[in-house]
Amino acid sequence: MADNIRMTIIGGGVGGYPAAIRAARLGAEVTLIEKDALGGTCLNWGCIPTKSLLQSAAVVRTMKESETFGVKCRGFEIDFAAVMARKNAVVARLTRGVGALLKARKVRVIQGTASFADARTVQIRETGETVQGDAVLIASGSVPARIPVVGADGPDVMDSSQVLAMQTLPKSVAVIGGGVIGVEFAQFLAAMGTEVTILEMLPGLVPGMDREIAAVLQKQISAAGVKVVTGAAVKGIDRGNTGNIVTYTVGGKTETVGAEKVLLTVGRKPEFSLLGIDTVGIRHERGAIVVNEFMETNVPGIWAAGDVVGGIMLAHLAAAEGECAVKNILGHREAMRYKAVPSCIYTTPEVASVGLTEESARERGEIRVGRFPLRGNGKALILNEPEGLVKIIADRQSGEVLGVHIIGPHATDMIAEAVLGMTMGMTAEALAGAIHPHPTVSEAVMEAAMTICGGAIHMP
Ligand code: NAD
Repeated sequence: MADNIRMTIIGGGVGGYPAAIRAARLGAEVTLIEKDALGGTCLNWGCIPTKSLLQSAAVVRTMKESETFGVKCRGFEIDFAAVMARKNAVVARLTRGVGALLKARKVRVIQGTASFADARTVQIRETGETVQGDAVLIASGSVPARIPVVGADGPDVMDSSQVLAMQTLPKSVAVIGGGVIGVEFAQFLAAMGTEVTILEMLPGLVPGMDREIAAVLQKQISAAGVKVVTGAAVKGIDRGNTGNIVTYTVGGKTETVGAEKVLLTVGRKPEFSLLGIDTVGIRHERGAIVVNEFMETNVPGIWAAGDVVGGIMLAHLAAAEGECAVKNILGHREAMRYKAVPSCIYTTPEVASVGLTEESARERGEIRVGRFPLRGNGKALILNEPEGLVKIIADRQSGEVLGVHIIGPHATDMIAEAVLGMTMGMTAEALAGAIHPHPTVSEAVMEAAMTICGGAIHMP
């Protein structure tokens, strides 16, 4: 069906490159245009490098608690340059891999900045070359958001990409914004020895997460040595002779924190400023490109996927949206489904969730909540990470699982069974009855489900 269909994909991040590979596999002739590096934010300035850094932080933690495991270490030293070099090596290997995969599928990759000449024609700004296609998929991603406070454009104020390019470790950092990016960087920097303060505007860290889980995370982030100030409204950043002073108000009082560097992690915003989408009349609202459930824009033949369409900005969702768009372009009829989109935080302990939080589920109807604390799980104890919990939200009548929230070791891997189960309409009873391997932390997921249906075994 796809033979001879020419598809132009703008953006080589996770919204674009898996879509290009899928389209090519389905027989389309694909051109992928990327202005920067293949792999986009995820591979180059997001998911992959930050997780590499957090792995170094996890090693520091292991060294510090080694005696708990009966291993005495005679001190250790952090080589920050080596930490960053390893991160760079991991990134380079993966981006090279993406290039090779695209080549293997005969995807034509153009290095340059795309902008619309008309609805079927894209022009490369740097060379003037034009690319004609039967369909265009926009997957141009997002950029870090800024805040309109005095001093936010100062030389020591960094966004997440700039932190990843740091050559030396700052002595102190004030992190403005205690969302996912903020807490991950805060924990990494604290593990490296930096003095870190998080200033979060709302009453708690990671606002979108289930509040009970977020509270456990906040406690653990504080225990890791990060100073957390919530309800903090940042008023300005002054650059003095000895560093930066961030002024904020909290509980009606004005306070300050001094820091060598300031990290802004206050969200991301869709990026399409260079595409000239108004030339072809593509609708956008509140800064995001508008698409229907098939990922098509209001202009027939122009599609969009990933962060550029706003909503939940996560790599795995971008990839799913890109593939959905490609299948629809090539004649399948497949609506994008958002019921079971997992969300993960790679701190220690890890956090992972899918579906409704307890708060949002309660607003919608009658529910049952099952909990299992990891102190009752053998493997969590073996790992010396018993400070966590699994929480399952199920519909009171049907028993269908509406949400699963985990904080603890391996949470980000364990959430996958909940994603699959929820995609298939799993009940808490089915989850409680599924035989889980022993000893694993995943048994806590089963036991949390058991607390809804008849009671857990390893809880009084
Ligand atoms: P976010 O929306 O998760 O968090 C931003 C935080 O900043 C919020 O808590 C918000 O209340 C706070 N904030 C906003 N303005 C503020 C102000 N003026 N002063 C103090 N606090 C303020 O955004 P993020 O952490 O920047 O992440 C951006 C996107 O990237 C998100 O969509 C996120 O899901 C995604 N991401 C995901 C992962 C992951 O899956 N592990 C990792 C990194 C980023």
